[in-house]
Amino acid sequence: MPPDEFRRHAHTLVEWAAGYFEQIETHAVLSQVEPGDVRRALPDHAPEQPEPFEQVIADLDRIILPAATHWNHPGFFAYFAITGSAPGVLMDLVSSALNQQAMLWRTSPAATELEEVTLRWLARLMHLPDVVEGVIYDTASISTLHALAAAREVAVPDVRTKGLAGRDLPRLRVYCSEHAHSSVDKAVIALGLGHESLRRIPADDAFSMRIDQLEVAIADDLVAGIKPIAVVATIGTTSSTSVDDVDAVATIAEREGLWLHVDAAYAGVMAMVPEFAWMRAGLNRADSIVVNPHKWLFTPFDLSVLFTKRMDVIRQAFSLTPEYLKTSEAGTVKNLMDTGVQLGRRFRALKLWAVLRYFGAEGVRARLREHCRLAQLFASWVDADPDWERLAPVPFSVVCFRACPPEAAARDLDALTHAIIDRVNKSGDVFISHTSLNNQIVIRLAVGNLRTEERHLRRAWELLHMALKELETP
Ligand SMILES: *Cc1c(COP(=O)(O)O)cnc(C)c1O
Repeated sequence: MPPDEFRRHAHTLVEWAAGYFEQIETHAVLSQVEPGDVRRALPDHAPEQPEPFEQVIADLDRIILPAATHWNHPGFFAYFAITGSAPGVLMDLVSSALNQQAMLWRTSPAATELEEVTLRWLARLMHLPDVVEGVIYDTASISTLHALAAAREVAVPDVRTKGLAGRDLPRLRVYCSEHAHSSVDKAVIALGLGHESLRRIPADDAFSMRIDQLEVAIADDLVAGIKPIAVVATIGTTSSTSVDDVDAVATIAEREGLWLHVDAAYAGVMAMVPEFAWMRAGLNRADSIVVNPHKWLFTPFDLSVLFTKRMDVIRQAFSLTPEYLKTSEAGTVKNLMDTGVQLGRRFRALKLWAVLRYFGAEGVRARLREHCRLAQLFASWVDADPDWERLAPVPFSVVCFRACPPEAAARDLDALTHAIIDRVNKSGDVFISHTSLNNQIVIRLAVGNLRTEERHLRRAWELLHMALKELETP
């Protein structure tokens, strides 16, 4: 595509994206298409002849937009609400234009060193100790996989050469709370430890890992000849955003020689905010921490960060330099291919760097505080209404609740909750999701989009009331 043509289409698409942001509330937040609609709208074969690019752009409005669920919509309250903010979007364009492949320092000094500097900024904003080093992966699942690979490396130093199979090794054990994320399961599966190596510890009434039960589990395992290698504590669990007592877990991990990984994929960014300084004690003691700027730091998907005091272990586990990638500067620089399974990597740091500069630390903190304020406000409405009940504390920006109308006592509340969610989501104004707490289905409302205002929460509350009323009077 000649530069002039590129310029013309780029201007069209910049207008398109700006218009999308301006009119985002005219779209149904949860896509209303049926399965197969997108497939049927497209030909079965790639075009044999070149097509005018205008036709590709036209298909964005015709096929892609209606089939997109709008994560950038202010009424998006499902899962964890996120924002692909404009500074990050613009830098994604630059990242694609530069097409950096940052496996080696020399294949992209800019991407290699900007990642180092930006993650140093983020670590300092989160008040992590300076000995911590960071690396960017795509998602938290991959960050946690690398953290547990490091734990495995420490526990079985020749695992890289000999593997785990067909040798005289005890069963290895990893602990996490019953509310820890499924990425911990996937990590032990992928690392060849086996799913049974993961022991989930029961939680207390606030959905926080029971420290006494962790102690019991470790003692039991030691008696049974099982070797504990790691514990994953969570700050901001996925269901209820509950918080494990990381400080107490750290004391046990230190005593037992376990790798302590803290999953703070969603809530880790709150360590920037002075009112949340309580998070620091535990974070400071972790061997590794995952935090996702693509979750609650306004960075377009995807960008997850693993911070660790022991990056040397990850390098030991994975660094490997074939002849054709040897360089004269290898001893004096960081080659990002050494910090993980992946060889090539895209220039993700650009978008996080731009987000931190555009908003500034004060701007980021103000927005995080506002999201927490909005969640508290919504929680206060739930608490004040006898037809609704809140089912978990609200430490950050997620509210877990359900309808509990008095005459519904004998009815199936889980079915009612699902029916309410379906009705609300059909409105197109709001998207909420569910989870299960104490074997009860609950509604999760997550605040995290930069465009969300009080009026969007009021609309959600109104739709919830309307849905309950309609379902009660069939
Ligand atoms: C979202 C989340 C994850 C997974 O994040 P991905 O980046 O999608 O892999 C892991 N842990 C917690 C606590 C989360 O909230």
